[in-house]
Amino acid sequence: MSDLPAAADPAAIGPLTLVEFPHPALRRPAKPLVRLDDAVSDAVERMFDIMYDAQGIGLAANQVALPYRMFVVNCAGRRGEGEEHVFINPVLSRPRGTAVQEEGCLSLPGVRMDVRRPERVMVEAWSLEGEPIALDLDGLLARVVQHEFDHLEGRLFTDRLPEAAALEVRDQLDEFARVFAGRQSRGELPPQAELIAALDRLEAARCRE
Ligand code: ZN
Repeated sequence: MSDLPAAADPAAIGPLTLVEFPHPALRRPAKPLVRLDDAVSDAVERMFDIMYDAQGIGLAANQVALPYRMFVVNCAGRRGEGEEHVFINPVLSRPRGTAVQEEGCLSLPGVRMDVRRPERVMVEAWSLEGEPIALDLDGLLARVVQHEFDHLEGRLFTDRLPEAAALEVRDQLDEFARVFAGRQSRGELPPQAELIAALDRLEAARCRE
C-alpha cells in the first residue's frame, strides 16, 4: 500500500473517439504493431462500434487516434450482417485495372468525391488471432481496403483527386481546419502538443523504433 498514486500504464488505450481532419493522427504514417494484447483486441471491438454508429464500412486505427497499422472493414456496414474483417500490418500488392467510384470518409463528414483506384489488389495481413491473411480483392472490398490502407500512410482520399476536383474540396478542408482550431482554442480538444504526445506514447508501447 502506498500514498502515491499508481503510475499510469503507458500502454493504456483510453476511450476511443472518431477524429476528424486535421487531427495529427490522420497525417502521421502509422507504425506496424509488434505487440497484440487485450487492449488492442478491445480497441478493435470499439472500432467496429464506432464504424457502425457512424454508418461507415471501414475504419483505420489512426481515425481513432491509434498510431497503428490496423483497420477494420465490413462492406455491409451493419453489425450482424456481411463479414467483419480485421487487417493488422497489411501489405498491398498486384494492383490491376482501374475503377472510378465515389468515396467519403468518416474523418471528413460531408465530403464525397469520385476517386480513381486500381480495381483489384492483393492484401496480405495478420488477423487479431495472429493468423496470416492473403486475399485477392475486387469490387467494394478492394476499394475500401485501399482507402483504409491510405489512412495508414497518412493519406486521405482527397489527396488522390485530380487538380480541378482538389480545388473543389479545398474550401471544405479549410473549413474543417478552422473548426478544429476553434475547438482546440476553446479547450474542447487537447492542444496539438498533447495530441502528438499521446500518439508517441501509444507508438512506443506497441511498435518497434
Ligand atoms: Zn477514410
